Amino acid sequence: MATIKQIDGRSVHQIQSGQVIVDLCSVVKELVENSIDSGATILDVRFKNQGLDSIEVQDNGSGIAPASYGSVALKHHTSKLSSYSDIASLQTFGFRGEALASLCALSILTVTTCLEQDAPKGSKLTFLQSGRLENTSVVAAQRGTTVSVENLFHNLPVRRRELDRNIKREWHKVIALLNQYACILTNVKFSVSQQPTKGKRILLFSTKGNPSTRDNIINIFGAKTLAALIPLELDLEIKPSGTRRDVRSDENPTANSHGVRIVGHVSKPAHGEGRQTPDRQMFFVNGRPCSLPQLAKVFNEVYRLYNNSQSPFIFADVQLDTMLYDVNVSPDKRSILLHDQNNLLDTLRISLSQLFDSHEDSISITTS
Ligand code: ADP
Ligand code: MG
Repeated sequence: MATIKQIDGRSVHQIQSGQVIVDLCSVVKELVENSIDSGATILDVRFKNQGLDSIEVQDNGSGIAPASYGSVALKHHTSKLSSYSDIASLQTFGFRGEALASLCALSILTVTTCLEQDAPKGSKLTFLQSGRLENTSVVAAQRGTTVSVENLFHNLPVRRRELDRNIKREWHKVIALLNQYACILTNVKFSVSQQPTKGKRILLFSTKGNPSTRDNIINIFGAKTLAALIPLELDLEIKPSGTRRDVRSDENPTANSHGVRIVGHVSKPAHGEGRQTPDRQMFFVNGRPCSLPQLAKVFNEVYRLYNNSQSPFIFADVQLDTMLYDVNVSPDKRSILLHDQNNLLDTLRISLSQLFDSHEDSISITTS
């Protein structure tokens, strides 16, 4: 029998990093969320060779203070959370301090950053695989941060081959994810471009710093898509299920019935989409893009009662008390555990039927 030994630190880091950064989507998601967390109002996402060569996210956010350069890419170093108890009230996307550390272990990471008072001089930072700062040099820069990830998975050959092989599918997922961020972020100019190995850079889509998600939808999907949507504004009262009677409601905020708002846009009953595609069914929890398969199922099932030949475009932001869900379920934070989910789904089913009932006359409205 082999003796039990501790895995060396470097290997542990690589194993865990491969769980945080599982694919191209996770890279894009982590970089974009860092830029949003930095308070950026301009966000530019640039790919080379659909991300196989590089992924670069530039923002005009806060920038990183020189005192933090050494810890930017160290594991579990974050400026957003200092203890687990803060998690419930968290307003930021990030909180685990794992993304940049993981990217150092799996790619070539470069960070260029500049505080407002230091412009037009910024710093370009490079890192060792461990996440330790390798080098700092002075470069021309404006307020904000640019993070560049090159050669993703260069040291995980199996994962890299898988990425190369599945790039078409991955790329669709990446664009769908970026659509989600670009749609939900108001007052942010969001642009996405791609440069093939040979050839010029192409702008894929952009939003214009719009004050409303309606305008974002027009910028991304076109005015015709918006014209076929109705506003989604559902106020749901969710009754508690299986609450223990000995828990006093003033001690346990989840013991009372609670309100959930679902706002956004959904297809008119008579004007759906040709087929169900993930890039046109977007879900958020308090503005955080996430996958909510059970909620999506209810939307699609109810919609089918009104239109059995098409699928709905869905943009649904589930707004609820941060005490009533848990984002820390999966490493990519896309799975979210909602409190009393079954009751929420039942209530949603009824409320959606009422909404579609009241718009059934839209059958006579043409959108062309
Ligand atoms: P987390 O987002 O969970 O804190 P990350 O590894 O994604 O962890 O980032 C580590 C830290 O680097 C962040 O807490 C933040 O202070 C800083 N940082 C990363 N990206 C940016 C950015 N675009 N602008 C400003 N600060 C950033
Ligand atoms: Mg982060």
